[in-house]
Amino acid sequence: MGVSRRASTIISLLTLALFGLSLAVVFPKPSPPPAPPQVPELWATGEPGDTLSRSAPLARILASRGLDDAQIHEITKLLRTYKSPRSLHPGVAVRFSPRGGVPDRIRLDLTPDSALRFVRVDSAWTAKVVLVPFTMDTVRVSGIIESSLWAARLGGDADRLGERGFEDLVYDLADVFAWKVDFTRDLRKGDSFRLALERKVRPDGSIRSRHFLAIELVNGGRTIRAIPRSRPGGRYAYYDEEGRSLHGAFLRYPVPYRITSRFTSRRYHPILKRYRAHEGIDYGAPTGAPVEVTASGVVTRAGFAGGYGRLVEVRHAQGIRTRYAHLSSIALRVRPGARVNQGDVIGRVGSSGLATGPHLHYEFLRNGHHQNPLTVEMPGQPALAAAQMEAFRRDRDDALALIEHVPSPEEAPVALVQPGNGHRAHR
Ligand SMILES: [Zn+2]
Repeated sequence: MGVSRRASTIISLLTLALFGLSLAVVFPKPSPPPAPPQVPELWATGEPGDTLSRSAPLARILASRGLDDAQIHEITKLLRTYKSPRSLHPGVAVRFSPRGGVPDRIRLDLTPDSALRFVRVDSAWTAKVVLVPFTMDTVRVSGIIESSLWAARLGGDADRLGERGFEDLVYDLADVFAWKVDFTRDLRKGDSFRLALERKVRPDGSIRSRHFLAIELVNGGRTIRAIPRSRPGGRYAYYDEEGRSLHGAFLRYPVPYRITSRFTSRRYHPILKRYRAHEGIDYGAPTGAPVEVTASGVVTRAGFAGGYGRLVEVRHAQGIRTRYAHLSSIALRVRPGARVNQGDVIGRVGSSGLATGPHLHYEFLRNGHHQNPLTVEMPGQPALAAAQMEAFRRDRDDALALIEHVPSPEEAPVALVQPGNGHRAHR
């Protein structure tokens, strides 16, 4: 959910974690996990040698099971219609049935959610892709903040998320509310949340996908609710209970990396060796990191521009322009006059022009005047159209009913747990 933009909130959260804030999440008393769905065991559990590796390609594994050259050739040919045998990476499990003797069924686990199945009927092999079944479940979680979302008491079904699942949830929450609440600064003791998630769970208990059904956040006495509406491509947009978008018209960051230089009227310029205004924000991103345009608009400049190096400038509604400088490359179709959509990759981070090292210099101008993109009042997204409101209200009422009776966290002392070590820092 919101995967591409989730990264934007990670940096500030990660900074918190890196600066020594401990994860102090208290999960409710563990209740026995739900029994995993029963799946009939049809396949011989592969032996260690039945996993593809460089020294054990498919043909060798098939031969070790007693298949002759003609059959191996037949299977490899069938495989090729689905996938290049070369693209089968090491670690793919090969399973056989029956367990003893020469198999007449073979299964290759292509992805966690699909397998390729070969069946021998009347001495000829056939192949088809089978999808791994999943079950749906709903998880409801409540929480009371001790000092931050990393230090909260949790209730409801939180134990079913696990620590890692909760960590992911924090990033997703921060993303949904990025335009309303700065999770690194605004949360305080006593703030609370309730939410419901829907998950697709694989037979082995791992999570195939999940999305929010409803969220309610109480922050400093104000209550903010988020109701998702699905968008094309499996993504979701979030609205408050009146149907107003929770997302601003501009993304917060063009690249999900740490800020290395802020907007100031005076700073020492390391190359020009003098003090001058820094009329933008610098992000310390590595060369080649994709740069996303922060709102839809029309490209007005794309090319080399003095100290800016390779520069893209985009004109947006309401007299706003954004600039992306020091790029190592500019996307091919990004030319003056081209339309770009919010989130499009317009170029790659570099160090062209006056730059000491790779970073993105990002400017935000309104009517020709530089503004601080971190503090400027951003135009909001329009609310849902009147024609959509009736359906929205129905969905909203169903969604909010789901979280109305989530059990509250029990009073419990806060135990300190080490935070996750930023495994999602660079997506
Ligand atoms: Zn700069």
